[in-house]
Amino acid sequence: MKPKGETVLKRVTEDFMGDSGAQPGLSAEPGLASRAPVVDIQGLSLTYEAADGPVYALSNVDLQIEEGEFVSFIGPSGCGKTTLLRVIADLEQPNGGHIHVNGVSPSEARVRRDYGFIFQAPALYPWRTIQKNVELPLEIFGIPKAERNERSRRQLELVNLKGFEKKFPWQLSGGMQQRASIARALSFDPKLLLMDEPFGALDEIVRDHLNEQLLKLWDKTRKTVLFVTHSIPEAVFLSSKIVVMSPRPGRIIDVIDASHLGRERKLEIRETPEFLKIAHRVREGLRAGHSYDD
Ligand code: ADP
Ligand code: MG
Repeated sequence: MKPKGETVLKRVTEDFMGDSGAQPGLSAEPGLASRAPVVDIQGLSLTYEAADGPVYALSNVDLQIEEGEFVSFIGPSGCGKTTLLRVIADLEQPNGGHIHVNGVSPSEARVRRDYGFIFQAPALYPWRTIQKNVELPLEIFGIPKAERNERSRRQLELVNLKGFEKKFPWQLSGGMQQRASIARALSFDPKLLLMDEPFGALDEIVRDHLNEQLLKLWDKTRKTVLFVTHSIPEAVFLSSKIVVMSPRPGRIIDVIDASHLGRERKLEIRETPEFLKIAHRVREGLRAGHSYDD
């Protein structure tokens, strides 16, 4: 008998990624995607109705993300970073404004399986091997066994976990588990990788190492990545664009281009004047946002 949790996961995964029967990785006209922004947000607002009154989570957010960008979202806790990612992924409905993902609504993009989501906790199933965890979305999508096998091995190799296929999650370190969850998100070839503080729970040395690996992965896969973080060095090191957000109501207060740092970056880049200049601007933005809330 299958453990109960898997049935729950199947439901969650279907709900999250849609279940249209469409083949993963076979979505949208390629020509369109390269011309229009992958994410196009205009005047977006979202208010939660909480028991003690409304929570103005996002206010008048405008944002365009081009194909292949690595975009970090940075801002104080509670400023709406997770909410914004969830709106893009069709997990929350905005109250106002417009949002398009690859030229369609977030719900259509979800049905098309445009999203791969990676959370702070790796959420791997302890009774499944690493490979079987990576294959789970593919099983749910009804991909034949041989192809599942081939794809999961390829993704595990991409995150440097070759040789760990038959291990169970608890036999791997926290950083390796998070890499396995990245492989799982990549397994159905989504157009967008949405990462919500994926390395927040890891120590700094592991995080540095994963940051370097993630950059290489981004370069190899050419995915568009949306990445939430609390860390200024992490945001600057990884991103081609940094979105600085203010406390409630979450607004975008600065969008910083960091593409001139190049796609191939070594950790040492953090000591260069170009890097420090961007980090300084992020810090200034965060400070300005804070005084607004006082
Ligand atoms: P961040 O990820 O930047 O820490 P969130 O997007 O999680 O911020 O939350 C933004 C604000 O909205 C916070 O004040 C949070 O408490 C509130 N919030 C988030 N989700 C809900 C919800 N489902 N109901 C009510 N308030 C919420
Ligand atoms: Mg959050």
